[in-house]
Amino acid sequence: MAKSKSDILSKKPATRFVLAGQGHTANGFVNPPVYRGSTVLFPDLATLATGNQPYTYGTHGTPTVRALEEAVARLEGGYRTRLFCSGLAAVTVPLLAFLKQGDHVLMVDSVYGPNRRFCDTLLPNYGVSVSYYDPLIGAGIADLIRPNTRVVFTESPGSHTMEVQDIPAIAEAAHKAGALVMIDNTWGAGHYFNAFAHGCDLSIQAATKYIGGHSDVLMGTVTCTAACFQQFDTTYEILGQCVSGDEAALALRGLRTMDVRMERHMKNAITVAEWLKARPEVARVLYPALAGDPGHELWKRDFSGAAGLFTIILKPVTQKAVAALVDGLELFGIGYSWGGYESLVVPTHPVRTATRWQPEGPALRLQIGLEDPADLIADLAAGFKRLQASA
Ligand SMILES: *Cc1c(COP(=O)(O)O)cnc(C)c1O
Repeated sequence: MAKSKSDILSKKPATRFVLAGQGHTANGFVNPPVYRGSTVLFPDLATLATGNQPYTYGTHGTPTVRALEEAVARLEGGYRTRLFCSGLAAVTVPLLAFLKQGDHVLMVDSVYGPNRRFCDTLLPNYGVSVSYYDPLIGAGIADLIRPNTRVVFTESPGSHTMEVQDIPAIAEAAHKAGALVMIDNTWGAGHYFNAFAHGCDLSIQAATKYIGGHSDVLMGTVTCTAACFQQFDTTYEILGQCVSGDEAALALRGLRTMDVRMERHMKNAITVAEWLKARPEVARVLYPALAGDPGHELWKRDFSGAAGLFTIILKPVTQKAVAALVDGLELFGIGYSWGGYESLVVPTHPVRTATRWQPEGPALRLQIGLEDPADLIADLAAGFKRLQASA
């Protein structure tokens, strides 16, 4: 039987990753079994009427799902967590839960693209107005808050352009005006950024990224304060959101090694980013973990580590030269998503409406995997040779 986990937050982070969400096991096995289930039986009509038993129906959770929910809630230091079939669903459902006709939401201009699409297409259909704000606005958010502003949505750093937001300052202004603060916390993975200690009411992760960690699972998590949970959870249930036991088990397996993997991702990413910063072909590296980055001081103040995800701006160069660099890379796959064990590269074209995005040249987003950084650097060096030959 698992021992009591009441004081897990007093333990060091590495220990928490081992302890979190234990206690849903059976027959002495370390991990919970994979429950696949729709129907849950009740012993009698009285229990059916009250629903007073731990599990009532598959969409309302299984022990496998609860184990992962509890693990994430404990690691993030929130009250409770719910799981979604994708990170995108975990972004949109909380907005639906807290916004109603006539409300206004302040959305960060550096937000994940599909979230912007949701705000620009679906929310107006429900009579919700959206305005975008400068990610670097800090306490200045107070001037944009309207009497009907219900939610201030943040994403720090922006997952393509890497601006670090002053979350405590934004949260203070939002709460003073009675608005909730949500954060897309995928970059910090609820591990390197403690959303609740910095004033957020709701922390969202694409668990597809570091919790899954192996590019083989799609999932989102939403973790809430006690005050927010009920309203959020009602909408979660109404919309029929749930994940399977198979997916939950896969994500829980990834989560156990997340601390170790993220440490290596960060170390490798800093090595590669420092090297890129010194390259003559590179105008700028956008990575808050690097000294000199515009977000470095805030990152140092609020984060305990960095994701292995950053963006580089090349000096002006033809598309043909960019293709020569990228297409020939052996260790960097061309593709979306990140947080898996393998390195990736993708061109990025952020959409802005409240601020300007004016890169000197083409922008590439890199996810640094668990390969040896010396091999990654050699691969990129060969790529720059091809770029120069093609320029
Ligand atoms: C990937 C990502 C999402 C969406 O996650 P999916 O599981 O791919 O839907 C949301 N926010 C950020 C910052 C992401 O990087």
